[in-house]
Amino acid sequence: MRIHSQGGNFGRRIVVKRGDPYGAWEVIRELEEIDNIRRILCVCRLCGERGIVMLKTLTTGASKRCIRCGSRGRRRRRDGPRKLDGGGGSG
Ligand SMILES: [Zn+2]
Repeated sequence: MRIHSQGGNFGRRIVVKRGDPYGAWEVIRELEEIDNIRRILCVCRLCGERGIVMLKTLTTGASKRCIRCGSRGRRRRRDGPRKLDGGGGSG
């Protein structure tokens, strides 16, 4: 028989530390959680732009740089399946 520790534990909790690299993003600090969504304040090391990125977006590699660098560095790409994750795009 195992004893579960108290408290709401939803799986393992990812910990981000200041200076952690995620692509071009570098973690500054974690912000307040809203609606169970953890948000990380990051700085784009390519241009110095700061941005708030959802933790999930960071850890899955969905976002690797700021919007400006992302659009600037866009190149021709073949049509591929575009993955849209859920709805609710206000924020
Ligand atoms: Zn940038």
